Amino acid sequence: MTHKAWRVAVNAPLPEPLTYLWQSETPARAGLRVEVPLGKRKVKGTLIEPDENPNKEFKVKAIGEIDEDQLSINQKELDFLSWVSEYYIHPLGQVIETAFPPLKRFSRIKKERPELLPEARSTDEKVLTEDQQKCVQSIKSLSGFQAHLLHGVTGSGKTEIYLELIKEVIDRGQSCLFLVPEISLTPQLVQRFVDHLGPQIAVIHSHLTEREKTNEWWKAYLGEKKVLLGARSALFCPLPDLGLIVIDEEHEPSFKQDEKLKYHGRDAAVKKAQLFDCPIILGSATPSMESYRNAKENRYHYHQIKSRIGSVQLPDIKVVPLKQDSTEREESKNSPFPFWMSPELYGAIQETLTRGEQVALFLNRRGMAGTVVDFISGESPHCPNCDISLTLHGKNHLLCHYCDYSESLEYATQRMGSEELKPLGLGTEKIESDLGDLFPDIKVARADRDEITSRKDLEDLIKRVENNEVDVLVGTQMIAKGLDFKNLTLVGLVLADIGFNMPDFRACERSYQLITQMAGRAGRHLKDRKGKVIIQAMNSDHPSIEYSIKQDFSAFADFELGFRRSLSYPPYARMAAFRISSLSQEKAKSLSQKLRQRAEAMQSRFEVFSDIHILGPSPAPLARVRNQYRYQLLLKSSNPNHLRELCRRLIDNKAKWIPSGTKLLVDIDPQNLF
Ligand code: ADP
Ligand code: ZN
Repeated sequence: MTHKAWRVAVNAPLPEPLTYLWQSETPARAGLRVEVPLGKRKVKGTLIEPDENPNKEFKVKAIGEIDEDQLSINQKELDFLSWVSEYYIHPLGQVIETAFPPLKRFSRIKKERPELLPEARSTDEKVLTEDQQKCVQSIKSLSGFQAHLLHGVTGSGKTEIYLELIKEVIDRGQSCLFLVPEISLTPQLVQRFVDHLGPQIAVIHSHLTEREKTNEWWKAYLGEKKVLLGARSALFCPLPDLGLIVIDEEHEPSFKQDEKLKYHGRDAAVKKAQLFDCPIILGSATPSMESYRNAKENRYHYHQIKSRIGSVQLPDIKVVPLKQDSTEREESKNSPFPFWMSPELYGAIQETLTRGEQVALFLNRRGMAGTVVDFISGESPHCPNCDISLTLHGKNHLLCHYCDYSESLEYATQRMGSEELKPLGLGTEKIESDLGDLFPDIKVARADRDEITSRKDLEDLIKRVENNEVDVLVGTQMIAKGLDFKNLTLVGLVLADIGFNMPDFRACERSYQLITQMAGRAGRHLKDRKGKVIIQAMNSDHPSIEYSIKQDFSAFADFELGFRRSLSYPPYARMAAFRISSLSQEKAKSLSQKLRQRAEAMQSRFEVFSDIHILGPSPAPLARVRNQYRYQLLLKSSNPNHLRELCRRLIDNKAKWIPSGTKLLVDIDPQNLF
């Protein structure tokens, strides 16, 4: 018998599905996409389950139209989305929305941009090395849900392993999901996939138009393309007969979405693999502490590849302290170099350029200078909207990196009643300009968010480097990830310290990863000698540097995990963050205090919550952004279920009790402080 009343998850911020009447001839089924009336609006919704006991007191409205393509998702997909909704405490209807394409389907796809999917080149088949073969075999030999951590140094042939396993899966007729951080989804990578697997690739990332995204979604959904290569959000695309998930660069923080649905792409992918009973491979040269611990404690299978392919060796790494004692400071006054250029780095650049090879210089801060400062008062101009000093760009332009507020240097000087504001600190733009003075005849290119504003910019830059039209590439973390240039043999980390002092317990892990990834760009194709890496730093004995020089991940992980365990930080505990904001500081502060009181009250009422630590509330590290005052309250517990339950209760019915003009959000497993 067909049920009359159905629970429908609607695309609205509602905690529960709503009940509607089914009146169509078409049989109703869970997962079917419909349109329903909500107040005066019509919204998209998805059938969840029959409502056996519809509330008789309300008049139940009828379901509007059924999606013209009869678009639907299956029960497993619904189970996955329900898990995401429960786990990240986000309305089911809004979670389900992410599984569907933004636009209606066009039956015939008009001309596509040729760069979306390149032509396959016939390339010579690679014979897998013994290490690669062993890894492929051991992953293949297990069936059903298994999580694998593939820990292989940069250039150890991980991608080749994925491709081999993907081929197997699609030969069986199943489909495959391959997720990478947005920034690593380069044309180089797509080309490599097409070369190996032919045209059966769909690609989804945030730089597609909505039409393109919709087209790619349909190709994957219908199984016309068996492999979906995508950034984070592609996880939600329903694929027929999912046979394998790969998460490359699994340690990347960008797998976590910080706004709206605050999910972690990697963690949710593991859950998806479990529900679909298929293997998942997490790959990295610098695994996250979470995954590494899972592997060490045998929840994940661990595969390690310690050397690069062929006779290519890992680069030589040299550390150059930039800290000077007073004599050195005196001497350096006569130095022809800017403070950020050590004689070692200068010599190495010269040597590399003489050989006709390329250099990459990395600094994780854009702009001309960190800021400008009045040397008499010691004050810097702050953004009027945010609690942050302005960054100098060009000669005269001060910019807020959080809200894009800008003012001229003259204006700031007047505003502060200062005589003169002088540049302080360093940014990529300054490095580029100093390089022009030091090496007048070379071609320098810069890759940061000022210079590279679109995917096309990045692709053009990659081409220029590949064609040797660039001698020195200067960039932020945009250049640290995944790039593979044949002729790049020297990598300089100009000031590796930036990031060490971030108020975040993951600061050391992040720095270690960044240094290792950046170092991994050097000499990836040298056969007869090693590439070279120079790390300049003020704190040159910092553990993240110490362990990256040794190129010894397991020693670093032991150190870092020891620290995490001693302070009960993830992966030894779970965290949740409440983020409170308001234009009124008073309101934000009092709401954050009220939240703590509510949490304490819950703890005294329910024994299960007693082991949860409440930290704060405190002003967020960025205490004001875009005029919003920000507070946070952190919860920490070794029991994820208790933690989530408390969070759910704390924000229960929040619309009813939080004062107007305040915002309260919860972030489960936060990756970034706010
Ligand atoms: P990773 O993903 O670990 O960084 P890649 O798979 O990109 O490593 O491999 C590094 C380089 O070695 C690439 O240029 C790749 O084409 C090449 N390569 C990988 N496996 C083999 C192999 N078995 N034989 C020859 N070359 C290989
Ligand atoms: Zn600002």
